[in-house]
Amino acid sequence: MAGVYLSYPFCAQKCTFCNFASGVASDDVQRHYERMLLREIEHHDWKWLPETIYWGGGTPSLMPLDEFADAMRAIPAAHIKEATLECAPGSVTADRAQAWRPAGINRVSLGVQSFVEAETRRTGRKHSAEIVERELNMLANAGISNINIDLIAGLPGQTLESWQTSLDWVERLAPPHVSVYMFEIDEDSRLGREALLGKIRYGANALPPDDTVAEFYECAVERLKSAGLPRYEISNFARPGFESLHNLKYWTLEPYIGFGVDAHSFDGSLRWSNIDSAEEYIARLENHLNPGAGESFSDCEEEHFFVGLRLAAGIEPTEHEWSRFKDPIERSLASGLLVQDAKRLRLTNRGFLLSNEVFQEFVYAPAI
Ligand code: SF4
Repeated sequence: MAGVYLSYPFCAQKCTFCNFASGVASDDVQRHYERMLLREIEHHDWKWLPETIYWGGGTPSLMPLDEFADAMRAIPAAHIKEATLECAPGSVTADRAQAWRPAGINRVSLGVQSFVEAETRRTGRKHSAEIVERELNMLANAGISNINIDLIAGLPGQTLESWQTSLDWVERLAPPHVSVYMFEIDEDSRLGREALLGKIRYGANALPPDDTVAEFYECAVERLKSAGLPRYEISNFARPGFESLHNLKYWTLEPYIGFGVDAHSFDGSLRWSNIDSAEEYIARLENHLNPGAGESFSDCEEEHFFVGLRLAAGIEPTEHEWSRFKDPIERSLASGLLVQDAKRLRLTNRGFLLSNEVFQEFVYAPAI
């Protein structure tokens, strides 16, 4: 069964670490976008009924409630099991929480990133741990207790002690799902660019070194496991039964359709995406033009490895895959990054930390 992804690319501020196609926009642009997003959904020819919905962006929790409910109503709801809304702390109110549940939302992903105020302030965020706690209570009162909390390991000024403080808060709030991302220095975030240029804005000179970030990650793996949330994917931890049904579709190569700016789609063989500019997206939809940015056929065998191996359960390669990827499999087994259990392959603990090295092995293996 397939999934639906919707992008609402607007935020109250642009966080320094963020490398998504998101940002601040005028009310006028936002209202136009909401109308065109609805138009794109309404013009979709539903060949299958979705099982999951995921609102990302951006900060979709800032979307006006009527427009949000209209967009939800435009999606066939008969088979929906999970409908997730990404929220930024500070954007949850009792009224909004009470409206999201009847609109169909049954899961919230809260982009906390850190419970330590000195760390969040530096990234442009304004929340405190107490605000997060209060907002989780509002969501629970509205009947939404299936919660994910996002954390980032490797923020400027983060220490093992402050990281433990964030993990203490996670234990105290006891969400059934936690995502831990390691901050990656790249051109796409303001903080990443600053660090690459050797400058100091946004605390770029206070970024913890790679081996310290790896230590934070391993500490989280241990503590979350002890708290009953084992790792089921490189960055994701859940109480059994609370794994993200929507995100599992990405890792098991199930189809999904995306609507909105920079939304990606996959039908089992073809991948395509929408343009990443909100203004151009609006202009195209207003002129009844396709918002697509391009498409490509996927090599599903290759993707089976570099997407499927992200899962702790690993993958069971087909006979053809065993022979096509014989050399990279043998190299990864010999280097101790992969382990084989009967017909399955999965990452070792070291492999989880060096997963990009493993995936790289499989990307350029020639088809036979
Ligand atoms: S991290 Fe979230 S809230 Fe911050 S700019 Fe990116 S999408 Fe917006």
